Amino acid sequence: MKLILLGAPGAGKGTVAKLLTKIDGSVQISTGDILRAAVAAGTELGKQAEAAMKAGDLVSDELIMGIMRERLKEDDCKNGYLLDGFPRTIPQAEALKELLADMGEKLDTVVDIQVPRETILDRLTTRRTCTGCGEIYNVKSNPPKVEGVCDKCGGSVVQRDDETEEAISNRLDVYNEQTAPLAGFYKNEGMLLEVDATSSDAVIDAIKNKIGM
Ligand code: AMP
Repeated sequence: MKLILLGAPGAGKGTVAKLLTKIDGSVQISTGDILRAAVAAGTELGKQAEAAMKAGDLVSDELIMGIMRERLKEDDCKNGYLLDGFPRTIPQAEALKELLADMGEKLDTVVDIQVPRETILDRLTTRRTCTGCGEIYNVKSNPPKVEGVCDKCGGSVVQRDDETEEAISNRLDVYNEQTAPLAGFYKNEGMLLEVDATSSDAVIDAIKNKIGM
């Protein structure tokens, strides 16, 4: 399947994407993960993205489109892909539309995962992430067996730099201003599936239903 997962930070896009990859071998493409890996490796891309990411602002559309033009051509995209955290602005959505037309590809649907702001704030301030493999934990509902150590890879489980209360509040404002308008964009294209994210399973069922799986 070829999907875009829209939704505010903390709406559960990553969790839903990970579950969907197991259904048909589609690959999860998270621009946030790509950028965090670049920052950790100290590459030129990482240096260009680091300050904006730390503040919870968006990195430039040019930088993101440069990454995605290459990424979508890779072999593992042949079985489908789940775009998690991309596109994030109307110019990115327009550039993606052009790119897919050039590649002769079509998305199955665009899923907007809707979660109330209070739930998101609570989830993000208690979220912890493995710096090794990206596994997501929650200090309240799903802590690692040993505090600070990833169950899967033994890496360090930490709070992301952009998950302080100040950065989270900025990320939500940025989302409302720059990314939320994408729902209208894809509604006009007749591609929008709006889902209340009561549980990941409910989101997956709605997607399967929509694309006839
Ligand atoms: P995420 O893990 O998706 O919340 O992304 C973390 C951070 O990476 C965001 O707050 C942005 O600074 C940056 N980022 C990720 N994806 C994009 C994108 N499509 N456009 C611009 N900035 C992005």
